[in-house]
Amino acid sequence: MKFSLKILLWMIIVMALALGFSGFYLVNYVFETSLEREVGQALDESSILSFAFETAALSVPSKYSILPDSTVEEIASNLETGGKSSSRLLRISDEQKNVLYVSDGFEADFTLLEQTSETMKAHQVIQTKERYYIHTGTSVNVLGRILYLETMRDVSEVFSERSIGFSLYRRVTLVMLLTGMVIMHLISSFLTKPIRLLTKATKRMAAGDYSYRARQISRDELGQLTRDFNRMAKALKRNIDKLEEEIQAREEFMGAFAHELKTPLTAIIGYADMLRSHKLDEEKSFMSANYIYTEGKRLEAMSLRLLDIIVAGKNKPELLLFSARSIFEYLQEMFVGSRNMEFQFQYEEGNMMAEENLIKTVLVNLIDNACKSSEPGSGIEISGFALEKGYRFMVRDHGIGIPEEEKRKITQAFYMVDKSRARSKNGAGLGLALCTEILKIHHSELEIESEVGKGSCFSFILPTDAGAYEERKTGRKAEKR
Ligand code: ADP
Repeated sequence: MKFSLKILLWMIIVMALALGFSGFYLVNYVFETSLEREVGQALDESSILSFAFETAALSVPSKYSILPDSTVEEIASNLETGGKSSSRLLRISDEQKNVLYVSDGFEADFTLLEQTSETMKAHQVIQTKERYYIHTGTSVNVLGRILYLETMRDVSEVFSERSIGFSLYRRVTLVMLLTGMVIMHLISSFLTKPIRLLTKATKRMAAGDYSYRARQISRDELGQLTRDFNRMAKALKRNIDKLEEEIQAREEFMGAFAHELKTPLTAIIGYADMLRSHKLDEEKSFMSANYIYTEGKRLEAMSLRLLDIIVAGKNKPELLLFSARSIFEYLQEMFVGSRNMEFQFQYEEGNMMAEENLIKTVLVNLIDNACKSSEPGSGIEISGFALEKGYRFMVRDHGIGIPEEEKRKITQAFYMVDKSRARSKNGAGLGLALCTEILKIHHSELEIESEVGKGSCFSFILPTDAGAYEERKTGRKAEKR
C-alpha cells in the first residue's frame, strides 16, 4: 500500500472516531438535559395536581366526615381536563391501592404505585407502544383519607429529537469525512512528494543513470534526506568514474604490455628458428645470438621495472629524514663525467622526509630521460630548492621537448612519444610510470613543463618533516616555487 494512502487511511480513521465520539456525546448530553427538565416539570405538575385535589376536597359539604369515592371521581375528572383542551393522564387509587379513577389512555402498570407511599414520591420513564412518558406517583391527604395520585407526561418529543440529532450528526459526519478525505489526500500527496522524487531518483540510479539527482522541494527532514541522498549519489558517481578510469587504465596497460612483449618475442623466436633450421656462417650466427641476447635482456629489464612499479604501488614508504646533500652527492658521483653530457648540479641545503632509495630511483630515471632526449654534449641542470614546508627537485634539459598533448600520457605505463626512438635507447615506457607510483606513495606528483625543440623540466616536491608529510597526506600541498 502506498505511504500517502496509509497516511490518508489513518487520518480518516482518527477523524471518524473523533467525530463519532464527539457527536454521540453531544447529542446524548442535549437529550439528558431535556429529559431532566421534563422530569422536573412532571414532578412539579404532580405537586400542583395534588394541591389542587386537596383544595377541591375542602369544598366538600361538612356532612361527610370522610371523602366519598364518588366525590373523588368527580374531582379527578375535573382535574383531568383542568380547563384545557388537551386532557391530562391521571390515575387515583385509594388506601389499598385500588383504582378509583383512571383517564383513558393511562397505560402504566402498577409497579410505580407499589413503590409510592404516604411519605415518598416516585417517578420513572416508561414506553407504551411508540410513545414515551414520565410516570409520577404521589400521595394526597384529604378528609381523613390517603389517596394516591399518578400522572403520565408525554415526552416522546425528547426521544424523537434525540433520534433526529443522531441521524443529522451521521449525515454531517459523512459529509465531513468525504470533504476531509479530499483535503487529506491533497495534503498527504504534498507531504510525500519528496519521497516520490527520491524513489524516482533511486530507480533512475538503479537503471544506471548515476548523474541523475533527486529534486529538493522542502527544507525539513525529508529535504535533508534528499540532500544527503544527492551527496551520496555524487560520491557514488565519483567512485564509479574512478573505477571505470582504473579499469580502462588496466586494459590499456594490458594491451601495451602484450604489445611490448610481442615485438621482442617475435624477433627472438624468428632468430632462434633461423639458428636451429639453417646452417649460418659465423658472422650471421653471432648476429642472431646477439639479437636474442639483447632482446632477452630488454625483456628482463622490462619485467624488473614492472615488478618495481607493482611493489612501489602496493608498499608504504619507509619514511626517514635525510639531507638534500646526500642525494646530490650520490647523483654527482653517478653522472658527472659520464654519458657525454654537461651536468650542472645546484642545490640549497635542506632536509626531507621520504624513502631515500626510492627518491634516488626517481631522480636517476628523470636524469636518464633527460640524457636520452638531448643531443650529446648539451647541458642538463639538476637543482634543489628549500621551501617553507617542502623541498623541490628539478631536472631540466634542452632536448627535443614533449608536445603539449603528450604530456598527460607519458606517465602511463608503456607510453612512448616516439616508439622507435625510445626502443633504440632501450626504453620501454615504464620509467615515468615508476616515478609517478613512487611519488604517489609520498603524496607528491610530477610536474612537467616542456616546449618542443627547447627542452623539458621535470620537478616534484617532498615534505620536510613528519608534520608536513601529514599535511600533504590530508590534501594541503606545500607552496610552489
Ligand atoms: P622510457 O623508458 O621510454 O624512457 P619513460 O616512461 O621514462 O619511458 O618515458 C616515456 C616517454 O616520455 C619517453 O619514451 C619519451 O618519449 C618521453 N620523455 C620522457 N622524458 C622526456 C624528456 N626529458 N624529454 C622528452 N621526452 C621525454
